[in-house]
Amino acid sequence: MTDLHRLSIRELSEGLAGSKFSSRELTEHYLKRIEKIDTQVQSYVTVTPEQALAQADAADALRKSGMANVLTGVPVAHKDIFCTQGIKTTAGSKILDNFISPYDATVVAKGKVAGLVTLGKVNMDEFAMGSTSESSYFGATKNPWALDHVPGGSSGGSAAAVAADLAPFATGTDTGGSIRQPASFCGLTGLKPTYGRVSRFGMIAYASSLDQGGPMARSAEDCAYLMNVMAGHDNRDSTSVNVDADDYVANLNGTSVKGLRIGIPKQYFNVAGLDADVKARVEESLKKLEDMGATLVEIDLNMTDAYVPTYYLIAPAEASSNLQRFDGVRYGYRCENPVDLTDLYKRSRSEGFGPEVQRRILIGTYALSAGYYDAYYVKAQKVRRLIQQDFLKAFESVDVIAAPSAPTTAYKIGASLDPVEMYLGDIYTIAVNLAGLPAINAPVGFDKDQLPVGLQLIGNYWSESQLLSVVHQYQQATDWHTKRAAIAEETV
Ligand code: GLN
Repeated sequence: MTDLHRLSIRELSEGLAGSKFSSRELTEHYLKRIEKIDTQVQSYVTVTPEQALAQADAADALRKSGMANVLTGVPVAHKDIFCTQGIKTTAGSKILDNFISPYDATVVAKGKVAGLVTLGKVNMDEFAMGSTSESSYFGATKNPWALDHVPGGSSGGSAAAVAADLAPFATGTDTGGSIRQPASFCGLTGLKPTYGRVSRFGMIAYASSLDQGGPMARSAEDCAYLMNVMAGHDNRDSTSVNVDADDYVANLNGTSVKGLRIGIPKQYFNVAGLDADVKARVEESLKKLEDMGATLVEIDLNMTDAYVPTYYLIAPAEASSNLQRFDGVRYGYRCENPVDLTDLYKRSRSEGFGPEVQRRILIGTYALSAGYYDAYYVKAQKVRRLIQQDFLKAFESVDVIAAPSAPTTAYKIGASLDPVEMYLGDIYTIAVNLAGLPAINAPVGFDKDQLPVGLQLIGNYWSESQLLSVVHQYQQATDWHTKRAAIAEETV
């Protein structure tokens, strides 16, 4: 079969169960596509054909013995921030270019238990810092919809791989939008779960109180399948919450759009820099949800102006602390011929980290330094609480909150946004992480240049099933999620 890459996860699962094709055939099909098409997209940092084919054969044997799970033999791509035993894990950085993890991240281990076949590791902004995937040491990934545009970031490799049909679904992580914004830029569905829902064990830390892994795929249904693998308590992560995960696939029809109260934050639709096409597409999607029975309720989120400054204090502060471990001593890059220990630290870090990472370490270290700690870090934590309260108050009168995922569609590669301009592009996503809430991106159309636009729905804590269900029903009634970039239509 030449069009295996067009099948949904449910269709892949049914096809494997019904022996319409084997996991080996499916895996070979994807590996061939990667070989042919990824030269243009550059979504993978590492492809692992031997391991993938061995896993595929094992999956086929399990199928024969009647011991298979729903997803046994389905391929996946992992963001290169998840540690993979025996396979290079780089976090997009030169400092980890030679790092081979001795263990699997919980998310990767759970994938293996579920029978997923790992195709390889996909590109990302260095240490997940960025919104374009251009800060990767391995070069920029291209947006499959327009190769001279960015796929978004930091999970740009995950998004581009799925959008070009180089993986049926992929894992991502979201510290301030890194699942939702690339999903938006590449026309995909992506879920950022409630903080604590998906284990962070073995997921290289950027800002620990904000980081959360989640699924990226074409549809809410496909995301639900991967979410069933990723979610759950893990006693190796002290912030993993001991609340049972739902069966996200079984719950896809669990929430009715009829009667759903959707909050529309006044402040969000008056943001300077909100592109007219993005605004129009998002409003059309809300009109569609209204036609399906939802009620739109105007709400106030008064803390909107504080999102960017608060996030860009807390995230770099935590990053500066987390990244201390990369010192050239224990693992990763080490400078040549250090004259003494200080020189070893200094040069390993100066040569190993790229400019955006260094900028954030500097900002974070400054914000945490004795003289400024109260004025910046402590103050930001207080504002963070107010942002959370703002959301909780809104959820007293609405079920979900709607917003664009990003104020614009994908930027041109090398558009040379200055850092502050880039940070402002995170306005719609970062508050969700500060509050620890779940949120989802769904594709809702295109701008005048045929670049995808995304709608974001933010839910209350532990409402992943509800978010997936609402998007699933929207996707039953529309076909934006089925649109494919020309490059994905290429047969190999
Ligand atoms: N763009 C944001 C940042 O640079 C978010 C990145 C992320 O979610 N990892 O921090």
